[in-house]
Amino acid sequence: SSSSSNSMIWFRKGLRIHDNPALELAQKGSKHLFPVFVLDPYYIDPDSLVSSPGSSRAGINRIQFLLESLVDLDCGLRRLESRLLVIKGEPVQVIAMLLKDWNIGKLFFEFDTEPYAQTRDNKVKDIASASGIEVFSPVSHTLFDPAEVIRKNGGKAPLTYKSFVAIAGKPSAPLRSMYSKLPPIGDIPGYEILGVPSIHDLGYKHVKQEFSPFRGGETEALKRLRENLVNKKWVAEFEKPKGNPSEFIKPATTVLSPYLKFGCLSSRYFFQCVDDAYKTVKKHTQPPVSLAGQLLWRDFFYTVAFGTPNFDRMHGNKICKQIPWRDDEKLFVAWRDAQTGYPWIDAIMIQLKKWGWMHHLARHSVACFLTRGDLFIHWEKGRDVFERLLIDSDWAINNGNWLWLSCSSFFYQYHRIYSPISFGKKYDPSGNFIRHFLPVLKDMPKEYIYEPWTAPLSIQRQANCIIGRDYPKPVVPHDLASKECKRQIGAAYALNLSGETPDAEEKLKSLR
Ligand code: FAD
Repeated sequence: SSSSSNSMIWFRKGLRIHDNPALELAQKGSKHLFPVFVLDPYYIDPDSLVSSPGSSRAGINRIQFLLESLVDLDCGLRRLESRLLVIKGEPVQVIAMLLKDWNIGKLFFEFDTEPYAQTRDNKVKDIASASGIEVFSPVSHTLFDPAEVIRKNGGKAPLTYKSFVAIAGKPSAPLRSMYSKLPPIGDIPGYEILGVPSIHDLGYKHVKQEFSPFRGGETEALKRLRENLVNKKWVAEFEKPKGNPSEFIKPATTVLSPYLKFGCLSSRYFFQCVDDAYKTVKKHTQPPVSLAGQLLWRDFFYTVAFGTPNFDRMHGNKICKQIPWRDDEKLFVAWRDAQTGYPWIDAIMIQLKKWGWMHHLARHSVACFLTRGDLFIHWEKGRDVFERLLIDSDWAINNGNWLWLSCSSFFYQYHRIYSPISFGKKYDPSGNFIRHFLPVLKDMPKEYIYEPWTAPLSIQRQANCIIGRDYPKPVVPHDLASKECKRQIGAAYALNLSGETPDAEEKLKSLR
């Protein structure tokens, strides 16, 4: 079939028209072009039994965000006189079948570095090659090609941000596509292709929850990008650590992460727009704290994740400190379900559930609290909760940041712990963020809102919130718990076990 002039572009991430090298290549020299998206039951499974709406690997907000992104992609393709063909099923099987049935000669898709995607894509490549189908998979999810950066660094991923930035250099410019029309879709006999399904069509019948305030899609992404970048002064002065994590009416950062996750927005285009904004001002902040620097963080984690076997685990991960995290289901569930008794922590976990997005420092607070700050629970358990509920859930970035926050890799100053009481108070002394996400505390006077268990009973009564009945008491006392965490991490560090130490697991047991 290699002589066939039918081509397929398989969308997975990269849900955009702009700066899309796979699409650019696919529209050239094809008689027919079939744009396909496969709804994968690995992520979308309405029958999975989970504690909150969605599937075991994706919460309802992210599924909704994906569907909105697909609707918008379909519109974008229709403007180019094509459309999106959405099909449900196991992707390898579905693509293998379509390649054959539609007599495809060339297959195009964006390169994906995640292990799940790599396994899937390698299978598809093998199947395609065996039938003489040519496969093209350009890198366009990140600013740089992680494999290329690793090659330039002598075969190893650079393990510090500084060395990464030095090696990576400057990203290439985004594509400027000139075509106004895509090749038509060929005949699809025997296939009933429906439009993009709604969440209800997918089988999520009883969704009562309000969706995240952030709507998916390329159009929304580009609009958000413009709105953020129109304020040149803000762009020039952007300093990540100075952002206020409690701002929720207008978040302190761009909230472009979910759009980057699905590729509704090209990171190269984002980077270039920031760079253009810099050219209009006298001076601007620099990496790692600048806005351009944030995009480099993203690429840094992508590169390390790509070059590190078992990056998403403690065992067998050579860049991960081995720490004897404890198993405590009750404490874990209290954290997950926003029942720790620390309003700052619980409000952030509600924001995660309702919005699927929180500010970076809010993520710091709850990740530190779960792991090395208070509960001493394994970062992998927190990672799983984030992976499922975040709308920007991203394998490389999520794992990288959990390794960081738990002092397992990249960052080792385990004495520096975020207080679940004073950290949030610094930004939001009246507790507006807490009142918004935890309405049970909405009438608690501001003197007590970060530590409601210290409020006299009469005050609790007036506020209609009795601690221990309407809202929990703290699950652990922060002062003691954090001391004990520090002691344990100190002891684990002294053993200096990495995921590559022979019998690291055995040696760890001596600490338990
Ligand atoms: P902005 O500050 O506007 O930054 C612009 C872009 O830069 C972001 O959209 C993102 O793509 C990138 N970026 C910013 N901060 C980081 C960072 N620390 N590491 C890597 N890239 C960064 N981000 C995700 O996109 N997906 C995740 O699954 C994820 N999990 C996280 C888990 C933990 C425990 C922590 C502490 C952070 C996590 N982050 C994750 C990183 C960061 O919190 C978010 O990228 C950021 O808050 C997104 O908001 P924004 O788009 O407004 O960021």
